[in-house]
Amino acid sequence: MKARAKRPPGDGRQIVTTPPEQTLTEFIIDEQRKVPHATGGFTALVNDLGLACKRIANIVGKGPLVDLVGKSGTINVQGEAQAKLDIVADQILFRTHLRSGTLAAMLSEECEDVRRIPTEYPRGRYLLAFDPLDGSSNIDVDVSVGSIFSVLPDPDEHAEVGPDAFLQPGTRQVCAGYAIYGPTTMLVLSLGHGVHGFTLDREIGEFMLTHPNMRIPDEASEFAINASNSRFWEPAVKRYVDECLAGSSGPRGRDFNMRWVASLVAEAHRILLRGGVFLYPRDDRASARSGRLRLLYEANPIAFLIEQASGRASSGYGPILEVQPESIHQRTGFVFGSRAEVERIESYHRDHNERRYDAPLFGSRGLFRDSA
Ligand code: MN
Ligand code: MN
Repeated sequence: MKARAKRPPGDGRQIVTTPPEQTLTEFIIDEQRKVPHATGGFTALVNDLGLACKRIANIVGKGPLVDLVGKSGTINVQGEAQAKLDIVADQILFRTHLRSGTLAAMLSEECEDVRRIPTEYPRGRYLLAFDPLDGSSNIDVDVSVGSIFSVLPDPDEHAEVGPDAFLQPGTRQVCAGYAIYGPTTMLVLSLGHGVHGFTLDREIGEFMLTHPNMRIPDEASEFAINASNSRFWEPAVKRYVDECLAGSSGPRGRDFNMRWVASLVAEAHRILLRGGVFLYPRDDRASARSGRLRLLYEANPIAFLIEQASGRASSGYGPILEVQPESIHQRTGFVFGSRAEVERIESYHRDHNERRYDAPLFGSRGLFRDSA
């Protein structure tokens, strides 16, 4: 149910006069009623996700008041230094989902192997993949971080579940979303019928529906990319950014703004609310030839939300959600946001498979000077 609104005389804007009324749990129960033959297991699963995110929000919000800032001194499966909060958030998500009988196994950025639900607990029908703390390098400077999750069906409820069970294209996701721990904590999710945002009311400890049916605005004038990698970009990406930078005097005929938070959740959240486009393309660095972001617990869940919100999510070459995963920690190039912009970037990738792009701005006159 939407918050009731009243229009004062002479003012065309809606003024919200009552607080949001629908909790995440009430919303999920309503959604589940729409799905024939659905069982209560799905409500329990989303409730557990909400609970885990509240627990993580609580700890992240304490910052240096608890001894959890800084590096843990360990390296994860990706070869990245783990923050202490990476490990804590991973443990919270794992433990919160053990008991309710909703999951068969979990996959985390912080854990090389798939973790099965131990046999003392009932086995459920779903698989959960997550990035427990996205953007954790931002923690120490108090910039927004988040948790990203993807729910897949267990493909064979009778077989022992292993890594192969997770190798399903993103189109198979039954639920995906993220929590963002910013000035407010929000949970944004999709069950395949639109994207809905819930804001945590800390006094009553509930996520309240504040952003029903989120849609990405079509007109985009913001792009987000890490320009320090520009000398490694493929021609299609160079051309796109080049044309944005040229602004109203270039082929696009209008000005763009650049953004870069270096936190996928924060970028996705801004784009869902305000439009624009995000690019973390594959590039010529050895560490980024297949892209940098992880397919199963970063790109796929964000892509599911973006497509559900009428945007487009792509590898640069085609839809992310149709990629058949080959390994559980696989990386991918990732471009998403307002549909028309992403389609333009895809068309540049097709064009420049055939002919090179000699970028004027990246040449001798370049803002981002290119050695080539
Ligand atoms: Mn991440
Ligand atoms: Mn992470």
